[in-house]
Amino acid sequence: MTEPVPVAVVGAAGRMGQELLRAIHADTAFVLAAAVVRPGHPELGRDSGEVVGIGRSGIPLGESLGQAAVAVEFTGPAGFDAALAGCLAAGVPLVSGSTALDATQMARLEAAASRIPVLWAPNMSLGVAILGRLVEHACRALGVAADVEIVEAHHRFKKDAPSGTGLALARRVAEARGQDPAAVVRTHRDGAEAPRVAGEIGVAALRAGDIVGEHTVLLGLDGERLELTHRAQDRRAFVRGALAAARFLVDRPPGTYRLDDLWD
Ligand code: NAD
Repeated sequence: MTEPVPVAVVGAAGRMGQELLRAIHADTAFVLAAAVVRPGHPELGRDSGEVVGIGRSGIPLGESLGQAAVAVEFTGPAGFDAALAGCLAAGVPLVSGSTALDATQMARLEAAASRIPVLWAPNMSLGVAILGRLVEHACRALGVAADVEIVEAHHRFKKDAPSGTGLALARRVAEARGQDPAAVVRTHRDGAEAPRVAGEIGVAALRAGDIVGEHTVLLGLDGERLELTHRAQDRRAFVRGALAAARFLVDRPPGTYRLDDLWD
């Protein structure tokens, strides 16, 4: 049997962090090495397992990465810089799921990849990674003859629209067809500008109730259409992908990796 991978969870008190603590506890392929919270967190020092209701883990909420072989962080833009700096200082590979990072933070991540392995994905779902591959394959085969429309749906509280994943899928469509995404991705249709322009890629957003996240890529041809849909039902989808990424990243040379690389 292979040894369990020691994982540090950074942002351990957050929604994703807590799910990760539960998933690591339930999976013999991993062992919790550290549960990192922000400096001054009110629960600093408390047992991480007790905080999330899974019994004593022996790993207190703390500020260091311990003996981790890999770190997984979901801290958002506010915690990202500290998470990255911690991994660089300790030479620990980083899986990052933080979204809404600015250009400077993305550049820091890219620069860090010359010293440690990094895998960043704004959507850690394995299903979405596969959807991207299927979409690329379909768009290469059908070319610009197919009218591509992307429809995404999320819960009523989502701050951004269209979703980062919807836009990433649109970019992937454009690139698969040799188009410049900036010139062909269209997120509004209204008034005199409404009619579809040949080759454009539409992205539409629905916001309702507690939808976790749905993305459909529709390819319309004359007489037929193909629809590729992914539905995330709960956060565990992102946790599973993040842990698969963590396992993949251990012992890799420094560099930038993508979820897609898991199947290469
Ligand atoms: P959250 O607010 O519940 O959790 C974030 C946690 O990070 C908080 O507990 C906060 O105290 C902590 N934190 C902040 N600074 C820190 C630091 N310096 N060190 C350690 N911890 C620190 O948010 P969430 O719902 O768990 O989401 C976190 C991020 O992950 C967001 O950017 C969200 O959009 C993203 N997210 C990504 C995916 C994906 O698939 N990539 C999925 C879900 C959420």
